[in-house]
Amino acid sequence: MTTHLVWFRRDLRLHDNLALAAACRDRSAQVLALFISTPAQWAAHDMSPRQAALMNAQLNALQTALAEKGIPLIFREVDDFAASVGVVAEVCQQHDVSHLFYNYQYEVNERQRDAAVERALSHVVCEGFDDSVILPPGAVMTGNHEMYKVFTPFKNAWLKRLKEEMPACVAAPGIRDGGAMSCDIAPLALTMPQQDFDPTLFPAGEKAAITQLRQFCQQTAESYEQLRDFPALEGTSRLSASLATGGLSPRQCLHRLLAEQPQAVDGGAGSVWLNELIWREFYRHLITFYPGLCQHRPFIPWTDRVQWSRNDAHFQAWQEGKTGYPIVDAAMRQLNATGWMHNRLRMITASFLVKDLLIDWREGERYFMSQLIDGDLAANNGGWQWAASTGTDAAPYFRIFNPTTQGEKFDRDGDFIRRWVPELRNVPGKAIHTPWTWAQKEGVTLDYPPPIVDHKQARLETLAAYDAARKSD
Ligand code: FAD
Repeated sequence: MTTHLVWFRRDLRLHDNLALAAACRDRSAQVLALFISTPAQWAAHDMSPRQAALMNAQLNALQTALAEKGIPLIFREVDDFAASVGVVAEVCQQHDVSHLFYNYQYEVNERQRDAAVERALSHVVCEGFDDSVILPPGAVMTGNHEMYKVFTPFKNAWLKRLKEEMPACVAAPGIRDGGAMSCDIAPLALTMPQQDFDPTLFPAGEKAAITQLRQFCQQTAESYEQLRDFPALEGTSRLSASLATGGLSPRQCLHRLLAEQPQAVDGGAGSVWLNELIWREFYRHLITFYPGLCQHRPFIPWTDRVQWSRNDAHFQAWQEGKTGYPIVDAAMRQLNATGWMHNRLRMITASFLVKDLLIDWREGERYFMSQLIDGDLAANNGGWQWAASTGTDAAPYFRIFNPTTQGEKFDRDGDFIRRWVPELRNVPGKAIHTPWTWAQKEGVTLDYPPPIVDHKQARLETLAAYDAARKSD
């Protein structure tokens, strides 16, 4: 009897898992699953304790679901990726594995690890799959066979390609026929710091993620365009943590959306949400073609010469949500308390750190990773480079968000701010965006800091710093 091994990484689900489906295609083969935890490696790359807890919960759910199909999950823990090469080789030898199946990861360390595994397994057939994207890197290229450097032409080419060749979802495997194995279920525990998360917001198992996706596509996707920028509303899917850890696949998102909103691929209802899935694809394709992004190099080289400020007190105030800019502070407190932040607020807080405090975007990128339950290198790096104007975005570096007007525009009555900054609960209506002015006028003392920088002045200093870096090119 042949034995197939499926190596799970960030694809902790049974439904629409390309590697698992391929391993199970031969109904007579024995199928084993493997998960290797590498706490030191993950800690070095700032995996947040909330994401570790979510992965832990997903891993246990996966073990149970696999056991129901007659597929045992082997769990191993080693320090880093180098050691995981040896583990895969050892498991293959121990179980006389003929075929190894896994889904690609596109980050540079992960690619190097996979290449080392393939080299070490000369007697095993290794098969990799583009599972965490809808269209694989390389499928959407310019006429010169280069990766697009700007999102909109990438998106147009991506949609054209999708219509030519729509990738289907694959079914979850059935119960193994001849190859079903007995499976012991023992609680699995990643030995890394973990922090509680709200399971009603971020469901741990794939069944709950599928339900959340279905509800979003039925109830909200159509009005997403109108709702998505307002953090006080529940206008986005909150599926990012499931997508980042692989409890859900992007193909499942696409097909569920199209089942409810078939015009989404032609610019109709639902197309703005589809756009977000395409941003996710864009950043994954980018790190594949520009691996330097994984090493935190800017996409625009001259921006590496910007003279960043090293003001620890400013950085700490930003982290703790004590900058004196209410929308920035509410957003940072949402992140610290829940591990998630609304997209509009990620843009505002990132812009504030880089363009108001002139702190290196890489500091913010690291801090986000250390807190986010949906931390994802490609999306996080892409978002930070977008905000810092060091990346692929077509807008020049002099786009600088005004944190006060952003608050007035996207949280007009301050509902979101009041939820997260209790010190400002009694500041009425729109005055909440400039509480220091209101307090002075009313003769009130607020238990809330004054702004740590003057936006107008900070903006000028940032423009000068970017100008100087560009001119020294
Ligand atoms: P929805 O609005 O419902 O979007 C659906 C899905 O599309 C998301 O779950 C996500 O997978 C994807 N998506 C949406 N917007 C983007 C985007 N701009 N770039 C890439 N993918 C996107 N997203 C992460 O998943 N992980 C991160 O670490 C991350 N860091 C970010 C850092 C910064 C500075 C910025 C500006 C954005 C970042 N994003 C990141 C993108 C985006 O903010 C989140 O994906 C989104 O807020 C998640 O909420 P949601 O699931 O409700 O999204």
